[in-house]
Amino acid sequence: MKLKCPICGAEYDEPVQRCSCGEPVEFEIFKAEPYLGKTVWERFWDFWPIEPAMELSLGEGDTPLVKSRLGKELGVKLYLKNETVNPTWSFKDRGTFLAVSYAVKAGYKAIGTVSTGNMAASVAAYAARAGLEAKILVSESASDEKLKAVSVYGADVIRVKGDYGRLYFESLKLGEKLGIYFINSDNPFRVEGYKGIAFEIAEELTPDYVLIPTSSGGLFRGIAKGFIELKESGLIEELPTLIAVQAEGCSPICRAFGEGKEKIERFENPKTIAKAIANSYPPSGNAVLKLLREFGWECATVSDGEILEAQRELAGEGIFVQPASATGIAALKKLVESGEIEERTKVVSILTGSGLKTLSHAKGRNVKECQLESLEDCLR
Ligand SMILES: *Cc1c(COP(=O)(O)O)cnc(C)c1O
Ligand SMILES: [Zn+2]
Repeated sequence: MKLKCPICGAEYDEPVQRCSCGEPVEFEIFKAEPYLGKTVWERFWDFWPIEPAMELSLGEGDTPLVKSRLGKELGVKLYLKNETVNPTWSFKDRGTFLAVSYAVKAGYKAIGTVSTGNMAASVAAYAARAGLEAKILVSESASDEKLKAVSVYGADVIRVKGDYGRLYFESLKLGEKLGIYFINSDNPFRVEGYKGIAFEIAEELTPDYVLIPTSSGGLFRGIAKGFIELKESGLIEELPTLIAVQAEGCSPICRAFGEGKEKIERFENPKTIAKAIANSYPPSGNAVLKLLREFGWECATVSDGEILEAQRELAGEGIFVQPASATGIAALKKLVESGEIEERTKVVSILTGSGLKTLSHAKGRNVKECQLESLEDCLR
């Protein structure tokens, strides 16, 4: 098991959580051959840093790649990678599963995370599956409503008063002391689990562009590493252009990228409807910046209005995503208009999580009232 810091280059033989320089660490590049197999874990068996504990799987991954009608208007071939159908309705399950495989093997009796949304539910569910305790640390402002979807799995949910930004680092420190394996947003096993998204896409087609909603940067790094490993293994010829998409109201990575900076800075007063991608100081921000520069990739921002419109358009095609997950489609429209994405190219947008998680700001449409006696008229 070899881990390397993508920023300072330090190497580790132990599965550390982060580099001593403060940046995330990542596993070496795996070069291997795929096999025939039922699940993505089995088909890409030699690409994981640890044996996936298949008995702990809840059926994460192997999600549909759906050809979208929306591409037609824009003149591109558009495909939607529908991650909303994962066991807890977001792609987080892929990473949680691999990290839980490690935690169980390493003998941990408890796992944890710092999150209020999709990651919290995912870690709580896999802890239940594996018979581990779950410690979920949430911010003071987390709503009771959201926490129901976490505590239902039997997790200990702890509301922490204090600086939410510091919680990420405190949790790693205390986790080590108390024997709780924290599977935070860019935990190295979690990031590895996300590679499966790239593998599955490549099994079906070779995209020119992949649009990736980006918050902590863990998802972006995982998909990037997946495609890089496919290329290094000789399984694809060219890397697609990856596009990190952020909400205008919280876009520390795109801002640093646009200003040519090497390091991200905290995004003050973040404000966006896309709560799942509202990390104002993303722990993998610098690592994502480095990838964008190294490979000539892109960063794009979208407004809340554009996000809501894209959410409606996706629902109009039968797929209900949460606002964060509609950002890819919102960005696509702008990038086609500006000519940055050319016509007739193949584009994949990652639909990261389900709209049922954020019903409170979803607008229902076309609800009519009708008396039973006049039902025939109402139906006409
Ligand atoms: C976590 C999440 C993201 C962003 O993933 P990061 O790894 O934090 O960049 C995007 N969309 C949804 C729905 C998420 O839950
Ligand atoms: Zn380092």
